Amino acid sequence: MRLRGIAAAPGQAYAPAWRWGEPRIHDSGVDLSGEAGINRLQVAIKEVKAALAQKAARLEADGAVPEAGILEAQALMLEDPALLDGASSVIRKGGLADAAVAQTMAPFAELLRASSDPVFQARAADLEDVVEQVRRALHGVSDMPPPPEQPSIVVARDLAPSQTAGLDRALVVGFATEQGTATAHTAILARALGLPAVVGVGGLVDAVKNGEPVLLDGDRGIVVIDPPAQDVAHIAGPAPLTADAEPASTRDGRRVEVGCNAANPDDARRAAAAGADGIGLLRSEFLFLGRERLPDENEQVAILEQVVAAMGDRPVILRTLDVGADKPLPALPQPAEANPALGVRGLRLQLLRRPDLLLDQMRAALRVASTHPLRLMFPMVSTVDEVRQAKQLIAQATRDLHLPSGAAPMPLGIMVEVPAAAIGADQLAQEVDFFSLGTNDLTQYLFAADRTNPELAVLADSLHPALLRMIDQVVSAAHRHGRWVGVCGEMASDLWAVPLLVGLGVDELSVHPPLVARIKAAVRQLDGRVCAAVAQAALTLENGQAVRRLLEEHALAPAARPD
Ligand code: PEP
Ligand code: MG
Repeated sequence: MRLRGIAAAPGQAYAPAWRWGEPRIHDSGVDLSGEAGINRLQVAIKEVKAALAQKAARLEADGAVPEAGILEAQALMLEDPALLDGASSVIRKGGLADAAVAQTMAPFAELLRASSDPVFQARAADLEDVVEQVRRALHGVSDMPPPPEQPSIVVARDLAPSQTAGLDRALVVGFATEQGTATAHTAILARALGLPAVVGVGGLVDAVKNGEPVLLDGDRGIVVIDPPAQDVAHIAGPAPLTADAEPASTRDGRRVEVGCNAANPDDARRAAAAGADGIGLLRSEFLFLGRERLPDENEQVAILEQVVAAMGDRPVILRTLDVGADKPLPALPQPAEANPALGVRGLRLQLLRRPDLLLDQMRAALRVASTHPLRLMFPMVSTVDEVRQAKQLIAQATRDLHLPSGAAPMPLGIMVEVPAAAIGADQLAQEVDFFSLGTNDLTQYLFAADRTNPELAVLADSLHPALLRMIDQVVSAAHRHGRWVGVCGEMASDLWAVPLLVGLGVDELSVHPPLVARIKAAVRQLDGRVCAAVAQAALTLENGQAVRRLLEEHALAPAARPD
């Protein structure tokens, strides 16, 4: 039986299924009321913090430093006085500690879940995970089942980030879940650990029996139960965590830059270690998260300098703040909106409400750019007017710093992630030096399909010809004006998409650090002219499945290549 889900972490695995049987919370008979309950809660919080610190240390030891940060952030949630104070007051009014914790934290999780931003939605799941861990600790119940007896593929309804981090990697070769999305923290951890994963697989848990052989294809987002022998003959195994600093060119000599996405200096160090050609997307909003006030110009310069130092002479593309009214950024409160994904976010927020923030970021960027190859990029651009306004602010920031107006210009680019920007690429290309396709949002807005909703994942297929046609238009327009085009959405990390993107003329791919070597290897096996012909043929097809078949026919599908 073949089930389709969302490709969450690349690589393939073939092993017996091991159904995740989470030990249930049962009434342990421990006194959870009154002062005894409050004391027990304090102990439970300490225990969970210690367990998270231990898992984070293990991740760090494995080189997954930013991912360890996910668990460290969870430990910080436990330090929030709202948890102990709120729960204690419920207990004093007669509640039991386990229910009190859940009741106290539920409104916070709801607030986060209501956000349209996947970063904050992922935090809701992280918060619920932490509450669940405290409830288990209160009853002395482990959050991990005993490990499987042989190397297996974990099959679960859902896995929390802490559970994913706790998987014994000698015994777990991949996992598939019924819930989850590619942007959730569980998927991010799987990619960092090099563990193939497929999430959002409808009907999975009821379809698989313990011990049944399973083929997990994290490149294609497919789970095959009891697969035929020919399907497992060429299993490639998990993505290797190797480095490759050599340039990648196609067989016919076309150079494709392979950079990395990064959110902080640790990510940049991992990107450098992986051999990335640069940072194709530095998501600066992460630098602002979890802070009570926004970092000023000097603080931003200090953080940026750590990033550029890690990358040496390799270029770094800094994206200006991409938050909005929909994002509960405590340091930047905004009024609620009916349609936050279509609201005052990204560049719009700064142009309409906070040009001062943009000026701070621009001054910081200009200072760093005077000594390093730093480029600046604006998110959520829809119109030429927005770009012109942003450029006026750059001119002002340049004057503020008393930089000579003609000296060492910092290259400027925009994210192309709104259909209006893609369709208006010809005009926009005359205003900026480069484009970076934000295919996560571009797919969401093109298909009008929420990128965080697994039910719509099939609809928002990034191999759909409608999206490919849009990319084709953007690349052609950019090249007509002598501009280069990168891709910094998840599509760049998708081995199915790479031949098409190369064929459409994309100049740069910005991917996850563990994938640098694999994507470079994939580029080197391609013939640019064959890819161009296949990509042009793909534009005429009806749907993503037809595009996949076309790639298979031309031996351009991931499993068919001996990488
Ligand atoms: C995108 O939209 O593709 C992108 C890279 O930006 P983000 O995922 O941060 O919205
Ligand atoms: Mg985006």
